[in-house]
Amino acid sequence: MTIKVRIPVQLIIEHKAIPHLYKTEVYEWIKEKKVALVSGNGKTRAVTHDIVEVISGQASRIQVMSCENNSLDTINELERMVLEDPPDIIFGVGGGKALDVSKVVGTRSNVPVVLFPTAISSDAICSPVAVIKMLNKSTSIGVKMPQGVVIDLDLLASSPPRLMSAGIGDLLSNKSALFDWRLAHAAGKEEMNTFANLMANNAVDSFLNLINRPEVDSSRMIKGAAESLIMSGIAMSIAGSSRPCSGSEHLISHALDYHCGGKALHGEQVALGVLFSEYLQGQREQVEKLGPIYEKLGLPAHYEDLGYTREEMHRAIRKAPSMRNRYTILNEFELTDESIDQILDEVYPEQAKNRYQLTGSSSG
Ligand SMILES: [Zn+2]
Repeated sequence: MTIKVRIPVQLIIEHKAIPHLYKTEVYEWIKEKKVALVSGNGKTRAVTHDIVEVISGQASRIQVMSCENNSLDTINELERMVLEDPPDIIFGVGGGKALDVSKVVGTRSNVPVVLFPTAISSDAICSPVAVIKMLNKSTSIGVKMPQGVVIDLDLLASSPPRLMSAGIGDLLSNKSALFDWRLAHAAGKEEMNTFANLMANNAVDSFLNLINRPEVDSSRMIKGAAESLIMSGIAMSIAGSSRPCSGSEHLISHALDYHCGGKALHGEQVALGVLFSEYLQGQREQVEKLGPIYEKLGLPAHYEDLGYTREEMHRAIRKAPSMRNRYTILNEFELTDESIDQILDEVYPEQAKNRYQLTGSSSG
């Protein structure tokens, strides 16, 4: 049996990708077509203007819309505007929320979407999943894959380093997520797609190999992170769910969002969760190896660095298994207050604190 997998037709990861957009296939797609741009409200609006400047002679109509947040109300409003006179294509421009909103509006109005990430803070830059806010809670929903992704490496180089670190945190979670997936498969709870498994695993390995090379510069690292996050998104498309890239570490992050005020970026919280999950999974050597990698990549290795207290970590770990109907390592342990305390001490030791500077803006 074979399956149909949706992947972007065009993947452009280059320096000056936006000013040179006129040289690409994406530019051909919009010839005498109606284009709607959806961006965030902050700095990404300036990027939207740059794109408009490049495409103004090519498209028959350009509509610029912005979204303040990823709430259902915002999405409904944008969808209403889109359906009044549907565009032929939507360009989603932003760091995270605007990409998610574009994907949802494109899916619901049946208009193809091209994403222009202005930062790589998560694997949302090319995935069949979008996070939206409903009743003040973040929820992941399935969406169509983007038809194209345009990544301007110069733009990413000027984005806050904190956002890229968060994106790498989201990437590193593939390892613990894949462990959980294999566990769920062995327990007879879920189908396994070995190809998606392989792809999500290789996405992380290729990035880790890259950062271990002595000669790698920041530009190559940004490109490597973008490529690996895209591979992760495609692994999700193959699997038909976020399973290859989302396991117990994501459940911990979701619980931090729902029950402890969501004080940090998704990828930062996930990176924190990876340490806990891999410890429970018996991958203690791996947890030790991650310490220096986190330091090098600017990722938090202690929950207090993200503003969480020990009590909040207890709450998040207790609530995590109920965040989603997804079998993970958390289902295989009866964690007591004492055992959680002991693991917190081992996974997040005192010396891991304060290695991390909470700087940079949040995504939008
Ligand atoms: Zn994620």
